[in-house]
Amino acid sequence: NILAEYPDVVLQRGILQLPKDDEAKRFADAPAIAGFDKNELQYLTAAQASALMQTEILSDALFWPRAAVIDPALWVHALRGNTPILATRKITTVRRDKNFYCRTNNGEEISARAVYVACGHAMDLIPEIHQQIRPRMGQISMVAANQLPSFPHAVSLGHYFIPSVGEKDHILGATYEHTDVVAVTDDGHQRNLAALQEMAKLIPALATSQNLTAADCTGRSAIRATTLNHLPLWGRADNGLFYVTGLGSRGLMSAPYAAQQLVIEAE
Ligand SMILES: Cc1cc2nc3c(=O)[nH]c(=O)nc-3n(C[C@H](O)[C@H](O)[C@H](O)COP(=O)(O)OP(=O)(O)OC[C@H]3O[C@@H](n4cnc5c(N)ncnc54)[C@H](O)[C@@H]3O)c2cc1C
Repeated sequence: NILAEYPDVVLQRGILQLPKDDEAKRFADAPAIAGFDKNELQYLTAAQASALMQTEILSDALFWPRAAVIDPALWVHALRGNTPILATRKITTVRRDKNFYCRTNNGEEISARAVYVACGHAMDLIPEIHQQIRPRMGQISMVAANQLPSFPHAVSLGHYFIPSVGEKDHILGATYEHTDVVAVTDDGHQRNLAALQEMAKLIPALATSQNLTAADCTGRSAIRATTLNHLPLWGRADNGLFYVTGLGSRGLMSAPYAAQQLVIEAE
């Protein structure tokens, strides 16, 4: 429903999934086993995949027609809807009597009947939740549109390749590093390029990626708040604060569900 109201959120539809190692043997049965109909998941022979992608694909593949490449900023804007932003400050402490009082890093205090803490990996306002979060840094790399061929759909093979639309850069990603230090590094670019070269073994048109180096890339990094079992955390802490965190690598999809569950439980 939200996507119907905000159609600009979706940049591309449909993602081609290529097989890792011996996965190809299982692809033919995957839609039936997973219980998906063909609007959701399709098994494609190499010839069918090649026709779809308008380039030679050397293996059978799965195609997810409804999967989407989205613009994260527009998606967050759409999810927020009309909720007003009162201040864009870091909350450093919260104290409570009848109300909650959130002190910001410029010294002002905001009072509220309830406080929902959704600070990703930076959950130090609720220490017992903070200690359950394992920060995992991720870097994406961007390559100019003219440096690689473009295809009608994004490709996933562990990592992903989001082909350029129009003049926009191609996007490769993402790294997964056991650190909470945010940095865009050449090492991260090289790992994203190495993953693209793996893809080139099944998509020969991507072989030109061998000529690319970190110097051809720009990038962005952020921290994923992961949990031991890779499931989100939501609830009410002992200090009365509500929380949603632990959205890991899938928060753009799971945040609306987790937030909705929290609101249902809180009411
Ligand atoms: C490289 C990379 C690729 C990803 N790809 C995907 C993907 O393809 N699909 C998908 O679904 N998900 C993806 N994710 C995961 C997704 O981005 C996260 O799960 C999601 O952003 C988590 O949302 P969040 O609001 O919980 O945390 P965040 O997005 O981390 O937001 C937390 C916010 O809280 C603010 N904050 C922190 N502390 C305070 C404080 N004390 N006071 C006030 N504000 C504070 C921060 O400034 C930040 O704005 C990816 C993540 C990375 C790093």
